[in-house]
Amino acid sequence: MNFKYLIFNASQFILLFSISLAYKSRQSSLYSDDDPLWELDSSNFNGVIFGKNNAWIVEFYNNWCGHCIRYAPTWKQFAREIRTWKKVIDVAVVNCNDAQNINLCRYYEVDSFPTIKLFWHHTTANDSGEMLEGKRDIISVENRIIDFLETNWNRGVPKEWPNIQPLEKYSHEIFDEFNEGKQSIMAFAEYPYNYVGRKVILDLSFQTNLLVRRVLTRDEDIIKNLKIEVSNETLPVLMRLNPDSYHVTIFKFSQDMNDTYIRDQIYHNLVGVERSKTKIEDAHSEGKPKDSGTMAEAVYRIDLENAVYNSLNKEIAVAKMIEGEKLFALKSYLSILKNYFPGTKPIMGYLSNLHDWAANKTAAISGEEFAQALQDIQNDAEYIPPMRDWVGCKGSKPKYRGYPCSLWTLFHTLTVQADKRSDKIQEGPKGKDVLFVIRDYIKYFFTCEECSKNFQKMATNIEDEVKNSQDALLWLWEAHNKANHRLSGDVTEDPKHPKIQFPSPQICSKCRIRDTLNGEIVWDKAVVLQFLHKFYDEQNILSADHRKASDSLVDDQGEQENNSAMGVKFILSPTSALLLLLLSYFHQSLKIF
Ligand SMILES: Cc1cc2nc3c(=O)[nH]c(=O)nc-3n(C[C@H](O)[C@H](O)[C@H](O)COP(=O)(O)OP(=O)(O)OC[C@H]3O[C@@H](n4cnc5c(N)ncnc54)[C@H](O)[C@@H]3O)c2cc1C
Repeated sequence: MNFKYLIFNASQFILLFSISLAYKSRQSSLYSDDDPLWELDSSNFNGVIFGKNNAWIVEFYNNWCGHCIRYAPTWKQFAREIRTWKKVIDVAVVNCNDAQNINLCRYYEVDSFPTIKLFWHHTTANDSGEMLEGKRDIISVENRIIDFLETNWNRGVPKEWPNIQPLEKYSHEIFDEFNEGKQSIMAFAEYPYNYVGRKVILDLSFQTNLLVRRVLTRDEDIIKNLKIEVSNETLPVLMRLNPDSYHVTIFKFSQDMNDTYIRDQIYHNLVGVERSKTKIEDAHSEGKPKDSGTMAEAVYRIDLENAVYNSLNKEIAVAKMIEGEKLFALKSYLSILKNYFPGTKPIMGYLSNLHDWAANKTAAISGEEFAQALQDIQNDAEYIPPMRDWVGCKGSKPKYRGYPCSLWTLFHTLTVQADKRSDKIQEGPKGKDVLFVIRDYIKYFFTCEECSKNFQKMATNIEDEVKNSQDALLWLWEAHNKANHRLSGDVTEDPKHPKIQFPSPQICSKCRIRDTLNGEIVWDKAVVLQFLHKFYDEQNILSADHRKASDSLVDDQGEQENNSAMGVKFILSPTSALLLLLLSYFHQSLKIF
């Protein structure tokens, strides 16, 4: 037998086997990315679970076991029901039929499916978890979680957890919480055997401005103090506590009402949205694979430079004549670029030359003259690089994103820079005036006519609305969000980068106070301001190198799509990739032989 032939076929076989293994294991999962839970495997289990501030409930399943298949919809629904509890407990699954998870499942002594285990916060490899015994319907599993929390409570809990322990005495000290940022202090009174009070507390645990404490009927002093009527028809009850002892009953339920109904009513009333519609930030989103859209949520130097290059060469230089107010707008724009653009030395030199060239012009200049100047003022040390491929503003198709995205980015960067360092500027527009210069750029030079009109409409009262540089920064942020709202679902929207109200809760959870019933967001503008300062800060502008990892991710996805177009979806596991390398090595070696 030919030896070379044998080696080649063996390597091919191993490669295909490995690819098909990876393909099978991903394909066979009972859960999808849409489920609000963590699908873990041996490569990320420890990293995700160990040492976290929250406890965990993990389902170890086997994708071919009929019971697991039937149970999966319940587990998904359960994960949805308790997704507002993430600060305290999060949900995960592990497929023990996946070859790479066999050691992991063995380690956790999983020998029947599904096995559900609870892990306390800051768990380590020494903790094999506590088996969840008994009924597995959603209510029972929730009750079991509460028992688990109560049993372990004395071991200590992270300070950000809500207190599910009953109030031991009622005193004015409870109102000290107002100083801790709480805006409402509430008591939920119930019989000791009821679970619903603790579920309500966990449901609301992400509302940092709210404190709900459990009060038990057996604590007669408190019950008397709060004037609570104890009967099957009047409990549970939710009251808002006030320092002047005028406590307000918000909800009175009765013992025949089920937990879900009670939780839904309270949640809807206090949070302003239906419990099932709340989107909650992932506590550990940094560990989750993200799609290409979210990877780009940062400011990239190339995008900013492209924005400037394009605005000079493709917008201003196409104007036939620049005179009067338009000339004034041009000079002001060049002035804010010179003063606030966070550019490299060659670019800043170039912008300074251009500014000085235009500053001397009093009569009209033609676009042609301007285009010529763009060429003439550059030299070896002072220049702006020509257009390069977009980075953060790269769309999933060439028709999406690009220049308008970079222009918004440029404008936000300029208003932030102006707010930070106007006082260091010798001459030219300062503070809020930078926003007015941007408005004039949009009016006179922005080549998207409809965009320009829409923007000017929003800016009708801008002079009254904007009093200082912070107002300016926030005004632009709000205007951009209005545009995002208007364009959401529009054909121009990149499906891989949906229009959202910015910033998303994933990148700034504290920016949002709450969502209202009609879908509006109540923002904490002081936090938004801080966030924008950081997001558009010069120090946080990324060079293209930071994008490389995500680029390869996009390429991989492209590859997968191509494969699936052929009817089969191969996913290269690290083992397969290694084998591919080995294979190419074999090819090389064979050539040498
Ligand atoms: C001034 C202006 C007006 C426009 N008006 C229109 C219009 O009327 N009709 C139309 O079809 N298109 C308009 N466009 C284009 C449109 O707004 C988008 O720029 C384009 O659809 C590309 O969208 P995008 O997904 O790349 O994100 P963009 O909306 O361009 O946002 C770019 C980046 O800015 C950040 N960001 C998003 N929202 C905010 C915010 N509120 N505050 C701070 N940063 C934020 C994000 O990181 C985002 O990736 C306008 C563009 C500009 C510059």
